[in-house]
Amino acid sequence: MALEPCRVCGTLNSTESEICLSCEFPTKGRRRPAIFQWAAVGVVMILAIPLFMVLFHQVKPKSPPQLPTSSSAQRILNR
Ligand SMILES: [Zn+2]
Repeated sequence: MALEPCRVCGTLNSTESEICLSCEFPTKGRRRPAIFQWAAVGVVMILAIPLFMVLFHQVKPKSPPQLPTSSSAQRILNR
């Protein structure tokens, strides 16, 4: 049983272990199935899209600033 350093964090791991014990990077270059990566991307997108929509709605004014209506302006003038 030999030890080999992790390519990411340098921790010595057994050559028999499939992932680094410290950072969980695959020691044998075996990557996780792509579907897990796409699932992670999908989850991030699902979480990020509403956040971006909220941010853009706050930046973009929904309605022009309210001007005083004619009736309130007349009230001010008649004072
Ligand atoms: Zn590592």
